[in-house]
Amino acid sequence: MNVADSQRVSSALERLGYESTRVVEEADVIVLNTCVVRQSAEDKAYGRLTSLQPIKKNRPGTVINLMGCLVGVKNTEVLQKRFPYVDVFSPPSDPAPLIHFLTQEETRAEEALRTGERFAFMDGDLPLPVHERGKLVSAFIPVVYGCSHACTYCIIPYRRGVEQSRPPEEILREAGSLVAQGVKEITLLGQIVDRYGVDNPDFPTLAGLLRRLNEIDGLERIRFLTSHPNWITDELLETAAELPKVMPHIEVPSQAGDSEVLANMRRGYTNEDYYRLVECIRSKIAGVSIATDIIVGFPGESEAQFMGTYHQLQDLRLDVVHLARYSPRTGTVSERRMPDDVPEHEKWRRFRLLEELQEGIAAEISAGYLGRTVRVLFEEKRKGRWQGRTETNKLVFVESDVNLRGQVRPVKISWTGPWSMLGSIGGAPPLLPNREEQLVLS
Ligand code: SAH
Repeated sequence: MNVADSQRVSSALERLGYESTRVVEEADVIVLNTCVVRQSAEDKAYGRLTSLQPIKKNRPGTVINLMGCLVGVKNTEVLQKRFPYVDVFSPPSDPAPLIHFLTQEETRAEEALRTGERFAFMDGDLPLPVHERGKLVSAFIPVVYGCSHACTYCIIPYRRGVEQSRPPEEILREAGSLVAQGVKEITLLGQIVDRYGVDNPDFPTLAGLLRRLNEIDGLERIRFLTSHPNWITDELLETAAELPKVMPHIEVPSQAGDSEVLANMRRGYTNEDYYRLVECIRSKIAGVSIATDIIVGFPGESEAQFMGTYHQLQDLRLDVVHLARYSPRTGTVSERRMPDDVPEHEKWRRFRLLEELQEGIAAEISAGYLGRTVRVLFEEKRKGRWQGRTETNKLVFVESDVNLRGQVRPVKISWTGPWSMLGSIGGAPPLLPNREEQLVLS
């Protein structure tokens, strides 16, 4: 989400005639986009912010813009006092305050901050920042801003505001504009992306939106994240299976493998529900890969409850696990009402156990690709190797002198590790060239 937000700020600034620089001391405008989902991210944001103070002192004309979740939707006053050298504050996903400040429409800037007008002034026509034009293969499009779910541990609803779907026309225009600039893959973003359109009766569902995006000529691949177990629908899964451009990869966090912990997190489903959901996703989308997020050391999490999570991952053998140690966030329900009683070293121990378990599972899943030919969309060349992703979102490297940027090619896999694979272009075309055929055969 922050990558998408930052890209839009770059784009908006370039429209005003600014150019990007790699040297922060040379910049006329510095935008610091921030995340506070865990304490470590917040600490990093404060660290960077503090490091900007001498720059402002040496060159008082430098405009410093603090953006994102550190600012939130109503947090500016405290920050203004603490960081008087910041010229302008912007909530997440919203370059409007900065733009109005730079164009000297300060009252409009303040108003934009209050009303959250976000990208209205961009009209959905989104020129990529110059350094990405003609290079960016895979782009993000936020489709749902904010979140209204309120998991007890999560600060996002407080900082990103209430859930709000973007109009489909705007999303489609933006997607078309990105594809015209060479983008081949689009990932739709939302805290609970499956809830797209639920807040507005005039909007399609996420499945409906996918159908319309699937028709864009030149667009090769569509992904979406993050799903929530209670909102992912049969319609969505069936549509994802049916549409050739929608990739067989679902990001649907379980967060924990114990129903009591899940209830304390206020996730709204049980451990058993999650098992059933994974079975359902696998039955509807052939060859699907699934990613989860897990928090270890949530308040009150016993050893037995943690083992529930361990067994969940062992049983379900998901493709990717994003692990986090519980971090109390000021103002959230868990921070106010539940003591952070799992010691730090114990959080680390649980973290490492899951990490080790998943490394083994991922290595085995990858090994299943050995000798197979899969379709890879190539993004960029790094250290002499072209880097791309399979339909299931696995990272693949290929040595080639041909310019593969933005191309989908069959790749025969010759080596696999837990986090990536190596292969070579061509050879036999993929055995199952498209997913419709794959579905029929399975
Ligand atoms: N809206 C998505 C993603 C939220 S943020 C969802 O609910 O699934 C990404 C991940 O950060 C979460 O899935 C969760 O695993 C983790 N996270 C959020 N708050 C956290 C906290 N207080 N401590 C540790 N991890 C947290």
